[in-house]
Amino acid sequence: MAKKAKKKAARPAARKTATKRTSAKKTSAKSGNGGKFVYLFGKKTDGNGTMKPLLGGKGANLAEMCRIGLPVPPGFTITTEVCTYYYDHKRSYPSPLQGQMKAGVSAIEKQTGKKFGDLKNPLLVSVRSGARDSMPGMMDTILNLGLNDQTVEALANKTNNPRFAWDCYRRFVQMYGDVVLGVQKRPDEDHEPFETVIETLKHERYHKDFEDTKLTVEDLKELVARFKALVKERAGKNFPASPWDQLMGAISAVFGSWMNDRAIVYRRKYNIPTEWGTAVNVQAMVYGNTGDDSGSGVAFTRNPANGAKEFYGEFLINAQGEDVVAGVRTPEPVAELKKQMPKAYQELERIRQTLERHFKDVQDFEFTIEDGIVYMLQTRNGKRTAMAALKFSMDMCKEKLIDWKTAVMRNPADQLEQLLAPVFDVSEVAKAKAIATGLPAGPGAASGRIYLNADRAVTAADKGEKVLLVRVETSPEDLRGMIAAEGILTARGGVSSHAALVARQMGKVCVCGAAAVEVNYHARTVTVDGQKFNEGDWMSIDGTAGKVFAGQVKTAPSEIVAGLLDDDEGAKKTEKFKSFQQLMKWCDQATRMSVRTNADTPEQTQNAIAFGAVGIGLCRTEHMFFEGNRIDAMREMILAETLEARKAALAKLLPYQREDFAGIFRALKGYPATIRFLDPPLHEFLPHTPELQQDLAKKLGVTAQKIHSRVEQLHEFNPMLGFRGCRLGIGYPEISEMQARAVFEAAALVQKEGIKVKPEIMIPLVGFKKELDLQIEVVHKAAREVQAEQKVKLNYLVGTMIEIPRGALTADEIAQSAEFFSFGTNDLTQTGLGMSRDDSGSFLPAYTELEIVKNNPFATIDQTGVGQLVDIAVTKGRQTRPDIKLGICGEHGGDPSSIHFFEKVGLDYVSCSPYRVPVARLAAAQARLSSK
Ligand code: ADP
Ligand code: MG
Ligand code: MG
Repeated sequence: MAKKAKKKAARPAARKTATKRTSAKKTSAKSGNGGKFVYLFGKKTDGNGTMKPLLGGKGANLAEMCRIGLPVPPGFTITTEVCTYYYDHKRSYPSPLQGQMKAGVSAIEKQTGKKFGDLKNPLLVSVRSGARDSMPGMMDTILNLGLNDQTVEALANKTNNPRFAWDCYRRFVQMYGDVVLGVQKRPDEDHEPFETVIETLKHERYHKDFEDTKLTVEDLKELVARFKALVKERAGKNFPASPWDQLMGAISAVFGSWMNDRAIVYRRKYNIPTEWGTAVNVQAMVYGNTGDDSGSGVAFTRNPANGAKEFYGEFLINAQGEDVVAGVRTPEPVAELKKQMPKAYQELERIRQTLERHFKDVQDFEFTIEDGIVYMLQTRNGKRTAMAALKFSMDMCKEKLIDWKTAVMRNPADQLEQLLAPVFDVSEVAKAKAIATGLPAGPGAASGRIYLNADRAVTAADKGEKVLLVRVETSPEDLRGMIAAEGILTARGGVSSHAALVARQMGKVCVCGAAAVEVNYHARTVTVDGQKFNEGDWMSIDGTAGKVFAGQVKTAPSEIVAGLLDDDEGAKKTEKFKSFQQLMKWCDQATRMSVRTNADTPEQTQNAIAFGAVGIGLCRTEHMFFEGNRIDAMREMILAETLEARKAALAKLLPYQREDFAGIFRALKGYPATIRFLDPPLHEFLPHTPELQQDLAKKLGVTAQKIHSRVEQLHEFNPMLGFRGCRLGIGYPEISEMQARAVFEAAALVQKEGIKVKPEIMIPLVGFKKELDLQIEVVHKAAREVQAEQKVKLNYLVGTMIEIPRGALTADEIAQSAEFFSFGTNDLTQTGLGMSRDDSGSFLPAYTELEIVKNNPFATIDQTGVGQLVDIAVTKGRQTRPDIKLGICGEHGGDPSSIHFFEKVGLDYVSCSPYRVPVARLAAAQARLSSK
């Protein structure tokens, strides 16, 4: 079997369009750090772990590991500033770089006693990319650089191990040819060209397939020759022999890969700015492929899938680092090392403890064992599932490695929803027989139609299908398909396989390495134990238990949801539930902003309160008019031609509204409710097809013609900017009057039942103080009347929604009348950007692609523009009324990064949909903690 090189193509020039750099500030040859572009690590270490922006994550942590005395092969880091310079200056380098690199190489030579290009004891290096945030699988690493026809002989002599030397050379030419010289699979080829060469040679010489470790020196020599010929043929030039040429070529390839397709897709998904750039690390090689006393592996200080405190990882004997992740030779669990190399295992255990004590977080690290000696090649904070994050944070707090505030920060807010996602129904699982098992790499439950290729998975998902991506193993090319899928199932690959990595990072449900699953790409079928599935058939995977099921398996609510919403006692006893409750308790201790919910029904309200909301931030009254036969009364009201007729119709609606509000007030148990008066344009309530108009005409005893013409009359060219919001209440004050009366009568009713009621009446779409004043008058009048009739004293506020720019800009005037502001950031974004959300689908994707907008402004608030409007309104509002209550009720109220902004501008609360409440509580707490 041919070894598959880790798939990460460089394609340096593949993407010239759409990536024009926008950075205004150009890096000069002497910017930033006094012209220092190279930072050493080893005996003398220039950098440290805090320098990730400059040295990249990998470089900074290599430096940090040197500082705490861990065994790291010496090397140097070329800073991210050089990357920025490179792109700002037509792919050229600052002039001092060359000299500094020479000094860097000398430093490595001194420490290793080897010399770059030497004919006795040659130094080989790796060239490794390293952005600020790790971008797994995106960038390109080259090992064994410095080999040529002469140095390979020297290495063979020096180590007395020609097989090893030629194995290194063979790997080097292959990697360099692929990554730097672009010798890659062509569209019409099924296999990597270098792999084809290996296979051909095996068959010519031995007539069979076998592991690469069994290739002889002669085989390897022949492979190197054929590889070079392949390079010559495909790249049209000779393989570079000079180590320095090799080095410069490799460095350019790393910088070049910053702009390759996959890197760009990844950055977009994770909002990593293009300006950050990558660093390059040049490091002395250590060899895991010298024989059975050597090996290479990756490990986590704790289990990153479920959070268990156990040494977790895998290794391969007689292998270089790339082999472990390549997934063809199946690695063994780290625990096996205990038997095979007890000394090395002990050393790794020691390192595991040191790492956690020093970094105070779970580490994901790479190591190589050369002739029994352990070397550290990388460490970083391990990516983890939401479940693992929760457990790590609780455990480490108990172990006193971190305090509770750090524990709060350790749970990524945008992942928290994973914990609320459904799991498989226990009784259903008991009935369904697992047809295969694999590694539980991403917890949760997923059912979907299977697809065996990323493109087809994406197409199906776009059509609204639930998709399960099934692959032998995944590679970065599959990323789009993985994003689109509910879950990922692979037949091969362990805990450090690409699938497992992505699952951890994206929170995908994933089972990997389910060996019983046979995937036939050609026939588009999956066979498990004789049972055959075609593309499009249903399968289910349990990523918590690592099980695979045929067909669809019913899901049940997560333990957290079951405990909170259904009061399920069993669920409440689970560790997951208890940890979640503890986390939320800490959030309450840390937070300044409170979290309310957007709810229109008692049930939604109840759920949100169970999730920890402390009130309603937005109750939309219009939804209430659609239910049952209320819509008829509503339509009657709209069609009415006289004030009397309208009032008569409104009188029919009043009891419904009163009942709705009473239900909500009861569910709120004393928490406040911001109730927005009627907002949408009236035509939204009317029937639009002739048949429906006919129906309504019959019900109301009018002609269909009359209804038709009223619909025509209400037609608007720009409904979003038309007769809606407070404009309705100003045109028809009797509507607001009815709504106010319904609120206050309900308030009186519930208050008499002994429940506190705090209505906050919100007038929408206000741009002029006078608009608000006219509506406030109506509200106060109704309040006076109801209080007199019912002989109660009601506690209420009247305020407005700030959702058009004029409202924000004149907030000082508006605040003279408004007792509170709630930012309607959905409309404020639409009106602020002059961009209709419902129509943005046709141009917004291109805007994201071209980086005109960094994020979808309807999901994450546009801080510079719309945020400025919010900021102005906050400042002006407080000038007039220092104790004005400020909240936000747009979609952004549940978005973690927007919540950080709302903390910064000093809002009192955010409001979001019920299921987002925990996310918002966590984000609000984190925003507070990180602002101090
Ligand atoms: P990635 O960011 O994709 O993990 P790395 O730069 O970490 O890429 O390198 C890929 C593999 O090569 C890793 O397994 C690493 O351990 C190995 N490697 C990198 N540098 C060296 C070195 N100097 N000696 C031995 N192995 C190395
Ligand atoms: Mg690595
Ligand atoms: Mg609005």
